[in-house]
Amino acid sequence: MRPARQTLRSPAELIAAGLAPRDRLGEIERVAARYALALTPDVVDLIDSADPCDPIARQFMPDAAELHAQPQELVDPIGDDVHSPVAGIVHRYPDRVLLKPVHACAVYCRFCFRREMVGRRPALSRAELDAALDYIRVHSEIWEVILTGGDPLVLPPRRLREIVTALAAIEHVKIIRVHTRVPVVAPQRISPELVLALRAPGKATYVALHVNHARELSKTARESCARLVDAGIPMLSQTVLLRGINDDAATLGELMRALVECRIKPYYLHHGDLAPGTAHWRTSIEEGQALMRALRGRLSGLCQPNYVLDIPGGHGKSPIGPGYLEWVGANGTAHYQVADFNGQRHAYPPVLPPPRR
Ligand code: SF4
Repeated sequence: MRPARQTLRSPAELIAAGLAPRDRLGEIERVAARYALALTPDVVDLIDSADPCDPIARQFMPDAAELHAQPQELVDPIGDDVHSPVAGIVHRYPDRVLLKPVHACAVYCRFCFRREMVGRRPALSRAELDAALDYIRVHSEIWEVILTGGDPLVLPPRRLREIVTALAAIEHVKIIRVHTRVPVVAPQRISPELVLALRAPGKATYVALHVNHARELSKTARESCARLVDAGIPMLSQTVLLRGINDDAATLGELMRALVECRIKPYYLHHGDLAPGTAHWRTSIEEGQALMRALRGRLSGLCQPNYVLDIPGGHGKSPIGPGYLEWVGANGTAHYQVADFNGQRHAYPPVLPPPRR
């Protein structure tokens, strides 16, 4: 494979870099005409092009399966638009909003839940951003602002600093959370200047990293995360459960352990959203629950993410992990049964009212 030092953005560039045979050009062009395409040099460096199932390549290389949308798939699968009072804001839960200043990403994931929007809509204009900030200012119930997009860390540090400073000046905003893939796909962007731009004196900044396979946590990616954590910015992770990428306990467990070793707390394991042309990525919920049971038995509590589903239509996230507690029996024999990490069930007595004195 020819080393690539520029972000690859066209099907011809993918072929020239040796990431796909020439006879796939037409297929890749058809997909790229529909959905955004970009692979950074750091991602290309991670790809083993001799492996047709390489878990890094598959996440970013267009595939004809993306052109086959299922009837149940949705253009806006998690219902952002119904909760968007002004451009760039999604206000779904009472105490927090999404602020989407930019709709571009450093890379484009083939399973993206916002694939109909990312790489296709422009960034917020100055006037739109001001209106979004005004919305946050007048809604005193907003405790947390989640910067997302797109990927907000593609913005220059100066622009990020302006946004973070404006948010930090709002008394009721206490938490600024940044959702990003940049520390793994373009780690050199996490410069001292960018780290400084994210810090907001008197407020807490969190960075939630999107990462799906332990191989994404290269040496340079780990160093970029360390720069954030060393600067006092706690990190969380988000992983999408992807068929053929991380849908086995060993692979998922290796990722969760690697994250904890990098001082990143595993936060969410997302069940695949109903984004158009992504059916080939989704597991069943039962498969996801079995994986969560396996992780519970094998790994430290620090390594356990929450398995969540974004309910289509904009109803928010719900935990869909396996249940461990059941209420069994009837009348005088009713009691709980709780499953241990090996799957064995144990009785636990109901709480009785305290005896009368
Ligand atoms: S980085 Fe996030 S928003 Fe961007 S393409 Fe990937 S999943 Fe979508």
